[in-house]
Amino acid sequence: MTSATDALLDRIRSIVGPGGILTAADDKAPYLAEWRGRFRGNSPAVVRPATTAEVAAVVAACAGAGVPVVPQGGNTSLVGGSIPYEEGREIVLSLSRMNRIRDLDPLNYTMTVDAGVVLTAVQEAAAGADRLFPLSLGAEGTAQIGGLLSTNAGGTMTLRYGNTRDLVLGLEVVLPDGRVWDGLRRLRKDNTGYDLKDLFIGAEGTLGIVTGAVLKLFPRPRQTETAFVAVPDPAAAIALLARLREATGDSVTAFELMSRRCLEFALRHVAGTIDPLAEPSPWYVLTELTAGRQSDAFREGLEEALGAAFEEGLATDATLAASQSQAKQLWFIREAIVEAQKHEGGSIKNDVSIPVSRVAEFIERAEAAVAAACPGIRPTPFGHVGDGNIHFNLSQPEGADTAAYLARWDDICHVVNAIVLDLNGSISAEHGVGRFKKDEMPAIKSAVELDLMRAVKAALDPKGLMNPGKVLP
Ligand code: FAD
Repeated sequence: MTSATDALLDRIRSIVGPGGILTAADDKAPYLAEWRGRFRGNSPAVVRPATTAEVAAVVAACAGAGVPVVPQGGNTSLVGGSIPYEEGREIVLSLSRMNRIRDLDPLNYTMTVDAGVVLTAVQEAAAGADRLFPLSLGAEGTAQIGGLLSTNAGGTMTLRYGNTRDLVLGLEVVLPDGRVWDGLRRLRKDNTGYDLKDLFIGAEGTLGIVTGAVLKLFPRPRQTETAFVAVPDPAAAIALLARLREATGDSVTAFELMSRRCLEFALRHVAGTIDPLAEPSPWYVLTELTAGRQSDAFREGLEEALGAAFEEGLATDATLAASQSQAKQLWFIREAIVEAQKHEGGSIKNDVSIPVSRVAEFIERAEAAVAAACPGIRPTPFGHVGDGNIHFNLSQPEGADTAAYLARWDDICHVVNAIVLDLNGSISAEHGVGRFKKDEMPAIKSAVELDLMRAVKAALDPKGLMNPGKVLP
């Protein structure tokens, strides 16, 4: 390390105290790699400030020394956005010690939190006040509010409540020069010019460090109905979703699609999964509907809607959970799919989104295209189809060489992405862009859009010190 770096680290140590800075290789290691191992980097130090003032002082010190900063939350986004580059110039700034719930206002239906609060802690605090924070996803025990905001995460309830962008009223952000923007307004209406918070949401830490947020809360549902439905094909699933929304006063909160192969993988590899229906079906939907009050009529309404769907050929069989534990068992199948794929050799992942009405066309075209590109490939499409977000994951042909198959990752993703773009979809519906997808940006954003993004970046971060080399090509 140079003496300039030593001097910066001493300065940072004086701001955060010796407990707030990690410089030993073993201590830094968990912050310098993602758990899938695809991205690894180096850094002179991982800094863990405990307050907004400390974040601001650390960022100002780095800006003064011309040293870039990589913000990091739970490190679950898996596209390399939260990992420094190999050269080891960047300081990693982890928000994990900023984990206070600052305020919960049940009458205003808001909660104000530090950016490092983990999603499950927010959900639990809301439930403790008889409120709902309706963001829920597989990484919720680790992902932090700052990371969720910075990637504009969705999840199982996006269909009903929107994604993180829709669940936020105000932000507090440390800017690249160390100034603090206090935008922690708890207003549902504010017509005073540019909505600055939207700039930082989905920016993946390239414009500043989110240190606090005002989150929207909702009434807690009093009744939840969960159904596992066999459907003949994805087109029927999409038609079923529209019918259920119409028939139940738009009370569908989750609507997850999975193919038979996904279910078979789960049954084969994950202990505790069961096949909920007597006969196999090529496709299934797991759906959840919620109501604000308890009534038999709500469940009856769902049964009637499913009955009508059977008559129209949109569904062929279904089971409704009779208890909370049965509902959990049905969700366990959905959650097991991710784990199960690991046991089937290499899996090439595509987290894409398509306008809901064109999802069926996408799956049909993409399955045919990848089969032509790689005979024997095993597509396992599943996901939050209610908001058009599909995990179009592709397991290797049986018996194929895993390394050789995974070496084709980019080439096979291009085949899928071409269809996504043709259908006006997005090649990143989860996780963000990070390092992984930034070179795709010129293909998916117009020159005007890229110019605007670069202009925003230059205005807020003229020295290019905030998470450099991410998102923008
Ligand atoms: P990190 O991975 O640490 O960081 C993500 C990006 O945000 C990085 O660029 C980082 O620099 C930046 N960043 C982090 N914190 C801050 C901050 N405070 N200020 C500024 N920038 C910051 N995503 C979905 O959208 N929907 C899903 O259903 C979903 N399911 C998942 C399931 C699993 C099992 C896993 C592993 C991931 C899943 N994800 C999903 C992806 C991931 O959980 C989300 O992208 C999540 O929002 C990342 O949060 P994090 O705290 O881990 O952020």
